Amino acid sequence: MFEHQQEHFHLLPSILSPTTSYPLIAMSRCPIKNRLTPLPFLLSIRRKLRLPIFPNNIPCCCGHKLHDEFGDHAFSCDKGNKKRAHNVIAQDFALALSPALAQAGYIHPNTPLTIEPLIYLRSDPTARPFDISFSPDPTSSHVCPYTTIGADINITGSPPPPKHATTEDILNIITANADNNLQRHERSKLGRMHKPPTNTFPFIHGDTVIGELYHKNMVLIPFTIDPHGRFGPMLQAFLTTSNHPPQKPWRTTHSNTKYHRPNANLMYSRASNPPCPLGILTSADINWHESLSPTRRSFFGGSYTAPTPSIHTMQLLGLSLSKAYSSLLCSATRTFCLPPTAPAFDLYSFLTAEDTYLVHR
Ligand SMILES: [Zn+2]
Repeated sequence: MFEHQQEHFHLLPSILSPTTSYPLIAMSRCPIKNRLTPLPFLLSIRRKLRLPIFPNNIPCCCGHKLHDEFGDHAFSCDKGNKKRAHNVIAQDFALALSPALAQAGYIHPNTPLTIEPLIYLRSDPTARPFDISFSPDPTSSHVCPYTTIGADINITGSPPPPKHATTEDILNIITANADNNLQRHERSKLGRMHKPPTNTFPFIHGDTVIGELYHKNMVLIPFTIDPHGRFGPMLQAFLTTSNHPPQKPWRTTHSNTKYHRPNANLMYSRASNPPCPLGILTSADINWHESLSPTRRSFFGGSYTAPTPSIHTMQLLGLSLSKAYSSLLCSATRTFCLPPTAPAFDLYSFLTAEDTYLVHR
């Protein structure tokens, strides 16, 4: 790839993300929910192998871009709709994280995570700042003093290529480049957008909302995920790594107070350090191995193939991404700007036709 297809090389840290490999190669086919139907399977495996999924250079109805044959534009198009994919991810992540959080000792078993709760904030009564959230049980084994841990899920576009790249540490550069892209989106979630005034409500400063969450003893963790399933550093830290490279602080001194974001700094620091739940899958693995319960099975969660909570949870998260992204790519074909006389585009026929890409014999 480095030699012959330089334009894709910077995507390797994303494409090699194991999360999106699990549903293709490692999950037991016994549970029906683990099986990908033909179209999501074809799309996921072709995205993983960087093979074309669309005809090349079809104009997009957004008017300023062409659809590339790998489907990347669908993730950054302003006419595209990520809502459905986003909802699939929120529902599935809530289901997948509940047993892991229980095993890690933050909640009691069978406690469902809440989806898009209304928080009744004074600064913005209609805001739903969390896509999914849970309240750590005060009697649980993990001491966590916060009332609610909430995640804001964000599907990002593909990272642009790095500006400067030297050959010696090229792998570090492209990895940092992939993370920068994800961190930019983490940043925009903590640096919450302002809401313009309406007939019923005055201007709402984004940082006031973050501040109110902070003072209510809550934590907001941005969960950013790129189009190949690489997780943002804060999501990684929440699941496994426990720490991540720091962000540049938000501004607190500027003549225009619209740029002031002292609460973003406070929330970022709270969400990046203990006692905020971090490395929850690592804790779950440790508890699982130490557990002497007679009902403990050799595969966590009845998964048949995953010997630990962390692998099982990552598999479920990857399965969710494969389904969500396939649906996003299918609906992107509706933004193809085809001549009025052209027959409707059928993605499945396109993917199964034998001559869609060149085979070197
Ligand atoms: Zn577009």
